[in-house]
Amino acid sequence: MSRATSAWQIDPISGPPASTAAFLDKDGTLMEDIPYNSDPQKFVFAPGVVKGLRHLSQAGFRLVVISNQSGVARGIFPKVALEPMEEKLRQMFESEGLKLDGVYWCPHHPEGNHPEWAVECDCRKPAPGMIKKAATDLNIHLASSWMIGDRDSDIGAAKNAGCRGALLTSSTQQCIEPRPDLVASTFFDIALGIVAQSQILTGHQNIKATQNG
Ligand SMILES: [Mg+2]
Ligand SMILES: [Zn+2]
Repeated sequence: MSRATSAWQIDPISGPPASTAAFLDKDGTLMEDIPYNSDPQKFVFAPGVVKGLRHLSQAGFRLVVISNQSGVARGIFPKVALEPMEEKLRQMFESEGLKLDGVYWCPHHPEGNHPEWAVECDCRKPAPGMIKKAATDLNIHLASSWMIGDRDSDIGAAKNAGCRGALLTSSTQQCIEPRPDLVASTFFDIALGIVAQSQILTGHQNIKATQNG
């Protein structure tokens, strides 16, 4: 299977070229934030998200969902509920002709009440655990990748993982610290900004031209 890569990522010393990813927050970013929703029937892409995902995908970014789901630790829904949620996300991407390269959930929260999941962990954003795991699993080059989210914890996770952070300001709070690398009020504008910045940083005027397949 061919994989979209870009010439600037090829490092002859460290083996096969790594991919670039857009790490995607789910609630308040890909879709409306319905607190502790575990019902896949309520999953709907927010306006402009599909267009933005397509733009990122065409520019060679792999698409990976990175989501805190403390509803598990809080006993609001069981961990097995994450399976149909992941399946629904895959269907949503597939039905738009998009490939979802990975889904990573953090079920933890230190103040939860479930004995197994109410713990400090290294994956709840702003910790970088999920992004780092995805980078290892999928051979992703973090310094050229982005985390897109609507919270300061998303930007914090980006910084802690060594990638760049893009803040969507349309839904919740403004992020002041840590400072995002890109701020926009729609997902599509974020996607445009990320692709434009990646082209400027690498001197590639057309990332598409370097893609395989
Ligand atoms: Mg969010
Ligand atoms: Zn966790």
